[in-house]
Amino acid sequence: TEPIHIVGAGLAGSEAAWQAAQAGAKVVLHEMRPMRMTDAHQTDGFAELVCSNSFRSDDHEQNAVGLLHEEMRRSGSLIMKSADAHALPAGGALAVDRDGFSDAVTAALAAHPNITIERGEIAGLPPAEWGNVIIATGPLTSPALAEAIKELTGEDSLAFFDAIAPIVHHDSIDHDIVWAQSRYDKPGPAGTGADYLNCPMTQEQYNDFVDALLAAPLHEFKEWEKVPYFDGCLPIEVMAERGRETLRHGPMKPVGLTNPRDPLVKPYAIVQLRQDNALGTLWNMVGFQTKMRYGVQTEIFRMIPGLENAQFARLGGLHRNTFLNSPKVLRADMKLKADPRLRFAGQVTGVEGYVESAAIGLVAGRLAAAEALGKTIETPPRTTALGALIDHITGGHLEAEAYSGARSFQPMNVNFGLFPPVEIAKPEGVKRWRGNDKVIAKRKAITTRALEDLKTWA
Ligand code: FAD
Repeated sequence: TEPIHIVGAGLAGSEAAWQAAQAGAKVVLHEMRPMRMTDAHQTDGFAELVCSNSFRSDDHEQNAVGLLHEEMRRSGSLIMKSADAHALPAGGALAVDRDGFSDAVTAALAAHPNITIERGEIAGLPPAEWGNVIIATGPLTSPALAEAIKELTGEDSLAFFDAIAPIVHHDSIDHDIVWAQSRYDKPGPAGTGADYLNCPMTQEQYNDFVDALLAAPLHEFKEWEKVPYFDGCLPIEVMAERGRETLRHGPMKPVGLTNPRDPLVKPYAIVQLRQDNALGTLWNMVGFQTKMRYGVQTEIFRMIPGLENAQFARLGGLHRNTFLNSPKVLRADMKLKADPRLRFAGQVTGVEGYVESAAIGLVAGRLAAAEALGKTIETPPRTTALGALIDHITGGHLEAEAYSGARSFQPMNVNFGLFPPVEIAKPEGVKRWRGNDKVIAKRKAITTRALEDLKTWA
């Protein structure tokens, strides 16, 4: 049979190669390091962790990334096996010895009889004779390949930076304060005229908020990470610096909106939230991309009326990151609509993080192997963490166009907002839920369902 060509031996490419080879397919794994390095990698090892050495929480009952760990373990993941073998003490988190981990991944792939390793950059589209390709070149995809992909997919389908607005869990928003309304009640192509949630601010609240923005510490950037500002995409703290009223004339403008609870009082400023996934569980803060440090973001955004108890699925950021507008350009099987020889995996598909990138590699490797061996398999059910992530990148995510015409697909870590919700009954004898009990019970229900539904697929 024809080999599968995998480009990039990072977290995703390494896992994809392992899965495909274990399934019985032949694999050629291409890695450009050490001949050509990225701005962040330091070694020639596979699956190098470029920053933190943490895979985050390992709690598979109460944490979405912990669940993803467990699903990957049960699917024979090389990344998880190597991480477990090189785990360091880190409380409930899975942290690893980065060199031991990377060496283990490299050695396992080098020793596999179905895998051939070729060092060298693929500096453009893969040659026409490669019929089954996985591109897993990551957030720092080499410029020659990135340019070639951009030409194939179109200018606005490959981003080189992510300007991320925070995303809030819907059930943590105070619905006694916010109200649903689109500006001037305009019904978008997919909307009703009440598509946004609006958080009203008085003049005093607005001034306090601007003061907090001006005082907030920023994320420190390395020289090569410095991100150019695009028009229409300025961080909110940069807008605040340009003038006290700038935000009120930008993302916080109060026009075309009326608070039904207080129709005669015009809010001085308004923060809008827009639905971010088809399930309606996640809402993004419109126009709120920011470079503020994470801790301070939570504090400052909770000053916004209606968000006092907000739980964030993702905080805002601005990074160098090469990623596709996947809901637009990828098919459900993760192949490029414009050239179905090419399947994508890892961070370049619009997931965020080591574990998530490896998870997409796991599924891509299995899909490619099935194809090489003349079999068909489905992607994992969307009730699993693996399936929920795939759904985020290939379709379940709402196309931005339906809401505002603005690009809103942004990379995301796995989180409970990506799963179809569960309804749970109060345990017998319990009159009302106490404290966090309901959230804990819901998470347990989601993770139990996920591991049950994974069985057939894995
Ligand atoms: P990578 O792991 O980057 O692998 C891509 C591979 O492709 C690399 O080995 C690269 O050399 C190779 N390659 C690129 N272009 C070509 C080409 N044309 N031909 C051949 N080979 C090529 N995530 C976290 O979870 N925690 C963190 O702390 C964290 N910190 C980060 C810090 C930085 C500076 C960056 C850029 C990212 C960080 N991330 C972090 C995200 C992290 O990079 C990804 O989660 C993960 O490494 C992505 O996996 P990947 O396999 O998609 O890409």
